[in-house]
Amino acid sequence: MDRYRKAFRQKVIPSYYRGALHVAAFAVIQFVAVVVVASQVVWSLKAVFIIAMALAYATTFTYFLHRFFLHRKIPGLAWAHKMHHWHHTFYQSRAMEYDTLDDVYMLLMPPWIQLLYYIVYLPLLTIVAGLIFGNEVMVPFVLGLTLWYGIYELVHWMEHLPPGKGPLRFSLFCKLREHHVIHHSRLKDEANFGIVEPSWDYVFGTKK
Ligand SMILES: [Zn+2]
Ligand SMILES: [Zn+2]
Repeated sequence: MDRYRKAFRQKVIPSYYRGALHVAAFAVIQFVAVVVVASQVVWSLKAVFIIAMALAYATTFTYFLHRFFLHRKIPGLAWAHKMHHWHHTFYQSRAMEYDTLDDVYMLLMPPWIQLLYYIVYLPLLTIVAGLIFGNEVMVPFVLGLTLWYGIYELVHWMEHLPPGKGPLRFSLFCKLREHHVIHHSRLKDEANFGIVEPSWDYVFGTKK
């Protein structure tokens, strides 16, 4: 596995890439985005409900994106399939952990996708939500989606930590990790597409 991973890194990770910089930039952007958007929310029960709905939408979107777009070669989206394939070939069920911080190149979304999420996807979706449900939903909705992205990267990261490390001392997180390990096994194209939580795998019978 060591030799395989060494060759993989040489082939896939660009020489200019620095995992520490990627992680730090994402953490700063995510933190600032949450603080700025949360400061604009007029807190009420309705706002909390809208945030919960945004999270429910996001986990649904993630399940379908993962199952039907990242695990299939869709014309025009071959690059997305290729990047996800790298994730699955570098991290296999018997070797889920990363060795060096630069290995997050195959774990986190690439910086340009993270940037597009904040500056294109979030504003567009928030405008659509505002047009459909009214302007008052926009700020809580964007907060829900912003929170989701941080949660997504964090939970997926945790699922690739060694067992017993950090949050993996708690059984809930261990169960989430086990769920994801099965997705990284030979069952990857048919099981456990939920990354942050497994509800849609139960609904659609893809839970193993
Ligand atoms: Zn993974
Ligand atoms: Zn996958």
